[in-house]
Amino acid sequence: MRRRWLFGDQLGPAFLDAPDQPVLMIEAHSVLRRRAFHRQKAHLVLSAMRHRAAELGDRVVYLTTETYREGLAQIEEPLDVVQPTSWAALHLVDRLAAERDLQRLPARGYATSRADFARWADARGGKRLLMEDFYRDARRRLDVLMEGAEPVEGRWNFDADNREKPPKTATLGLAEPWWPTEDDIDAAVRDDLDRLEREGVRFVGEDAPRTFAVTRTEALAALDDFIEHRLPTFGRYEDAILTGDRWMAHSLLSAPVNLGLLEPHEEVDAAVEAYRDGAAPIAAVEGFVRQVIGWRDYIWHLYWYLGEDYRTMNHLQAEVDLPAWFTDLDPAGTEAACLSWALTSVRESGWAHHIPRLMVLGNYALQRGWSPQQLTDWFHRSFVDGYDWVMVPNVVGMSQHADGGVLATKPYVGGGNYINTMSDHCGNCVYDPKVRVGETACPFTAGYWMFLHRNRDRLAGNHRLTRSFTSLDRLSDLDQLIADNPDLT
Ligand SMILES: Cc1cc2nc3c(=O)[nH]c(=O)nc-3n(C[C@H](O)[C@H](O)[C@H](O)COP(=O)(O)OP(=O)(O)OC[C@H]3O[C@@H](n4cnc5c(N)ncnc54)[C@H](O)[C@@H]3O)c2cc1C
Ligand code: SF4
Repeated sequence: MRRRWLFGDQLGPAFLDAPDQPVLMIEAHSVLRRRAFHRQKAHLVLSAMRHRAAELGDRVVYLTTETYREGLAQIEEPLDVVQPTSWAALHLVDRLAAERDLQRLPARGYATSRADFARWADARGGKRLLMEDFYRDARRRLDVLMEGAEPVEGRWNFDADNREKPPKTATLGLAEPWWPTEDDIDAAVRDDLDRLEREGVRFVGEDAPRTFAVTRTEALAALDDFIEHRLPTFGRYEDAILTGDRWMAHSLLSAPVNLGLLEPHEEVDAAVEAYRDGAAPIAAVEGFVRQVIGWRDYIWHLYWYLGEDYRTMNHLQAEVDLPAWFTDLDPAGTEAACLSWALTSVRESGWAHHIPRLMVLGNYALQRGWSPQQLTDWFHRSFVDGYDWVMVPNVVGMSQHADGGVLATKPYVGGGNYINTMSDHCGNCVYDPKVRVGETACPFTAGYWMFLHRNRDRLAGNHRLTRSFTSLDRLSDLDQLIADNPDLT
């Protein structure tokens, strides 16, 4: 049996063909020297790799080098490798395969195969690749929450029952999520990262006790805990933000699943079982299943299907550099309560749930015309679950509309009213979400109108924005708005 070269996001048992397969792992530090990653992200990946190596014992050759090439040069025997998760790593593998005996195997760790996705997308002529259609196709094909040919309880989509405004309480009142206990491997990783910092390697964000699972056992414990304590509330407040409750009812499973420690079907099976046992309502379970075999797989496959140049798209010609306070995760850089809170969440944990990502951080960048490529890089480096495959479509496509509408038919741009409805931030803010000009103008409200004004020609053909442009034309204070926001014209 060939020795399997495992990348740092291929750590679960599904990435090996047999329990006794020999393994190669390479901890390549040049990656850390090139870009400033969140300290907790660096910790998470190194800790996960070293924990996996400890489990594999003498079956693994574990090398710490500057580059992958340096590591591979030390191994002469034939190798194979599961398809890596970025275009850059794929090209590296293909170049190496031309030089030595290295076989590339199909990707693992996703619910839909590449062939099934291609069949689905090609049947649409590569157009109108809507997530909802893909998700229904996956539900049928994988027979998840189905009764024969029909969805259980007669509906594919329970969004109308989900996505409520936040409650008037400070938290959702759920038990604390499952947290790991650090061990000697974490201590050694922390020492190594401290040493790298002393040698000049730059990180962003704060160091803190590890929050996310790094082993298969931990990942299964985190999954069990979510299913029992949080899943029943999952859908209801999926889109809400509470200042005092960072985690709300989210699963916190993106990091371990993206490390390869959990298979998406395991998450889905556990959620469906809770539904069948009457332990979680259909709206919550369908909402979660939609995220895992819908959104996650859809994003993964689009990354490959849309090709390598997709990442460079910039339909709205957004060229502004990201400011230093944002890239440094400095919440004091803004007085906007919602933005400062979201940056604090990223600074302290390398994580925020999808609404702060999309409707606060991404929305703010979109309104200000920040470079989608710089923003993709920022998200990738700053979030514990960020990998190239997941950041490129989520940021370039979903968040920044830089693909001109391939992924989302309408830009995810919203004013302060949206944030005021879906969070409890505005009451604690120096700005007023209803005000668009003057001292107390909410930067999201002003930014929303300025976004429409600036991009009118580029978005003129988008029928879903017709009403927004009609409202823009009715603004009595557009001149004042423009005068107040010279940077956003
Ligand atoms: C701008 C932006 C950037 C994002 N970057 C990432 C990223 O780098 N890595 C990442 O895993 N997710 C990313 N997401 C998706 C989503 O925000 C996170 O998966 C989620 O917040 C992680 O927390 P959770 O595990 O508690 O998720 P939950 O809310 O519990 O959702 C369950 C699972 O669904 C999956 N999921 C849901 N939506 C997506 C999606 N759009 N893309 C991929 N997986 C999804 C995740 O695996 C997640 O664990 C991004 C979303 C946006 C809008
Ligand atoms: S008023 Fe505006 S800036 Fe302040 S919290 Fe609300 S949406 Fe954010």
